[in-house]
Amino acid sequence: MDNANTINNGNQQLLTELQSLGLRLAEPDVGASSRRGGAGPSDHKAVTVDGRTIMVPVHTQSAKESPFSASGTVLGSTLTRDGKPIATISFPRQPRFYKLQTFDGVPYWKIAQLHGSDVLATTVLQTCIRYGRRSTSCQFCAIGESLAGNRTINRKTPEQLAEVARASVLLDGIKHMVMTTGTPNFTDRGAQILCESAFAVKAATISHAGFAGGLPIQAQCEPPDDPVWFGRLKASGVDALGMHLEAVTQEVRERIMPGKATVSIPQYLQAFEDAVNIFGRGQVSTYILAGLGDTREAILEMCSTLVALGVYPFVVPFVPIGGTPLENHAAPSPQFMRDLLQPLGKMLVSGGLRSADIKAGCGKCGACSSLAAFEN
Ligand code: SF4
Repeated sequence: MDNANTINNGNQQLLTELQSLGLRLAEPDVGASSRRGGAGPSDHKAVTVDGRTIMVPVHTQSAKESPFSASGTVLGSTLTRDGKPIATISFPRQPRFYKLQTFDGVPYWKIAQLHGSDVLATTVLQTCIRYGRRSTSCQFCAIGESLAGNRTINRKTPEQLAEVARASVLLDGIKHMVMTTGTPNFTDRGAQILCESAFAVKAATISHAGFAGGLPIQAQCEPPDDPVWFGRLKASGVDALGMHLEAVTQEVRERIMPGKATVSIPQYLQAFEDAVNIFGRGQVSTYILAGLGDTREAILEMCSTLVALGVYPFVVPFVPIGGTPLENHAAPSPQFMRDLLQPLGKMLVSGGLRSADIKAGCGKCGACSSLAAFEN
């Protein structure tokens, strides 16, 4: 590898470029399967680069034109850029729990999936009140695609989630869990089914694999209409909470996610404040998709407000997902991401918020953004 040193020194740069430009893979299904469809970011695959596992787009249009390519096996593969070898990468193995099925005959992989290297992720409810109508749906979301493709089931019961979580901890060393949900109503907005699910998973994992308090869980939903839900989520066993702004200016929110944008930014900020009072500084986070139209300055300004509130802004590059209205939208350039993540990394450190201190969830996993690499 003629420039292995460059890769070690330019780790942040390589990770950022891979996530923006994507990767052409000779065998896209090597190792753990790639994610197609589902809630939130998708159409990418876990890749381990220099000991760090990140999600890299592999099924997108931009990935087909990427200068990066790789071929190989789970044990190791050579990453090339414009045909020149630049690093050795690997892919997390297919987890053992994927081979099992529930007592009622549902394959475990349809209930929850491995994300990154050690995260169990599930969409508790695979339908959303906003999905299906262009006037209300989030244009980046593919929550209905995996359901239509029979790659998941609509409602994962607390019993099913408990069974899968326990097996994943025992067989695959899962360290934390992400529970997201489609929005089922305009009141609790998913908080109630997250409470039921978290309670069952905690009870099933309480004394396994060193988790005296049960598997750490991040729940993700829109802000519930009543802040009483934050206390209920915490009491049910949720350790960290994600409420995702996705975009930071109202104009972009209304264009990209017209339904969700009816919950205003001031309502989100109030919900963040209420949630931090329950979960603590750094245990509440929000996803921000860079590349949808918000300027660097607007994103950094919102991040500054969020950090002051104790909310971790998990800024990720937008990945255009096949089958969604934004499938032909460009991904942000590596330069745009670097210019954003560098000052954000500094802002996080001076605000005392770090990925490593989050108990569970996307900010802790960090696979969908190279942000954590900028916190050093
Ligand atoms: S950051 Fe979140 S969505 Fe991305 S791989 Fe990790 S757990 Fe999954």
